[in-house]
Amino acid sequence: MIPTRQSKQGWDQNDTKTESPVTVAIELHLHLEGSLRPERISALAQQYGRPDVVRACLTDDGLALRPCRDFPDFLELFKATTSVLRTPADHHAVALDLGEALAEQGVKYAEVTVAYGVLQKRGFDPVPIQRALWEASDEIFGHHGLHLRWQPDATRQWGPDAAWRVLEDALRAGAGLGVVAFGLGGDEAALPVAEFAPHFREARRDGLGTTCHAGETGGPDSVRDAVLIAGVTRVGHGVGAAADQDVLRLLAETGVHVEMCPGSNVATGVLACREDHPMRAFLEAGISCNLNTDDPTFFNTTLADELSEAMRLLGLTKGEAKAMEVSALAASFAPDPVRQAVAALI
Ligand SMILES: [Zn+2]
Repeated sequence: MIPTRQSKQGWDQNDTKTESPVTVAIELHLHLEGSLRPERISALAQQYGRPDVVRACLTDDGLALRPCRDFPDFLELFKATTSVLRTPADHHAVALDLGEALAEQGVKYAEVTVAYGVLQKRGFDPVPIQRALWEASDEIFGHHGLHLRWQPDATRQWGPDAAWRVLEDALRAGAGLGVVAFGLGGDEAALPVAEFAPHFREARRDGLGTTCHAGETGGPDSVRDAVLIAGVTRVGHGVGAAADQDVLRLLAETGVHVEMCPGSNVATGVLACREDHPMRAFLEAGISCNLNTDDPTFFNTTLADELSEAMRLLGLTKGEAKAMEVSALAASFAPDPVRQAVAALI
């Protein structure tokens, strides 16, 4: 029997004539903190005596994260939920939750962002936490054959000094604890990416991949600067690039990969609806891109949802979906043996 999904995917329950759904095996833009399950938030909030976090973050029935009003409200929600994510043990549990959820959908490789900047701001050492995440990754691989790798990220609005501390700890954790990249997230409007160009340069020199949230709330200039000044090989979201043909051409010519997150862009108010997402413009320009959830429990989405909605509303074909998967693997920061193992699976 065909697996049953929620009705928004448009697959008839028990319809044995429906073709098998195309699945997505790779996710590149996914925040650990944005995958916190409501029941995990409740349990952690209780553990730390913070019932206010449940009130601030969950719906009245406690079964889901509350919707965001806009992008600043999303940042507030992120801040509140992460306030109950503290110890290595907390992170281990959350990583297992996420790994199980991804494995259930048939994901074989995922790069997960961890907000080292937030951890440091709260006085926690990210390295023991990274060790716990890596142990959880090992368990998930053992049970499901899913490869998890990790991307520490700095928070743009906290500036270059804080970002140096993130990079330092990312390198201290290193490939031995599954760290493959250095990223920049947070409020895109706060500071120009040029402030972080030296960090990206240093990260690359030390063997890390580099990715940057750009063109999420910012315009084409933000994407152009991420490519030309910061030198990243991937941009998160990239929606703003669509306003300038030159920037689309730049992405295509440089082969910089766009980690698209349409559900997120609608949930944070960046786009009015999924139909407004420039996925088709990216594909027509020949830009390497793939679909991602960003913060799946915050935005009540899954990778399977992103795929089916892109097919339904943006005309994504099965062939294009497969091609996206191939380009996602090529753009990933997976170590070579992992890349080869995943290539054999997709
Ligand atoms: Zn993101």
